[in-house]
Amino acid sequence: MASLISTLARIAFGRPPELVCRRDVWQAGVAELHRRTHGRREAGAFLLGRHGKRRVIEEFVFYDDVDPASLSTGIVVIDGRRLGALWAHCRATGLKVVADVHVHPGGYGQSESDQANPVIAEIGHIAVILPNFAGGATDPGAIGVHQYLGNKQWRNRSRERPNPFHVGWWPR
Ligand SMILES: [Zn+2]
Repeated sequence: MASLISTLARIAFGRPPELVCRRDVWQAGVAELHRRTHGRREAGAFLLGRHGKRRVIEEFVFYDDVDPASLSTGIVVIDGRRLGALWAHCRATGLKVVADVHVHPGGYGQSESDQANPVIAEIGHIAVILPNFAGGATDPGAIGVHQYLGNKQWRNRSRERPNPFHVGWWPR
């Protein structure tokens, strides 16, 4: 209930979020990511949804479902030739990749490789990083929220309050 009150206060007075995910969708996706790490390797997902006034996440598409070999080195490496099925799914559903998420063993800062290889190299795109193999904190405020500025530059928005990423109910 406290979180609904803070959401209502934010709707009335605050800066609206840029990326939103329903809590049940987020919790199910994050639990599945945690499971796929087996506590010892990174895992991740494309976050599909719709662009409107803000980006709304509706579906997780896990990297190892797109490319079964993507997690085998311990860090995420997706073979671009495997992406055709993802784009076909997007065309069929009308969904777009609105953000991405991956898991780190430790903290939620970006690695050099994360900065050099944006999953979607589109200005404004948000890359979420879950610390501790997604086995601990998984809510905005305690996770990585990194926004792409273009030209391999990023803005770290993880500690902004209110956070640009909101998990929970938000009016359409
Ligand atoms: Zn990373």
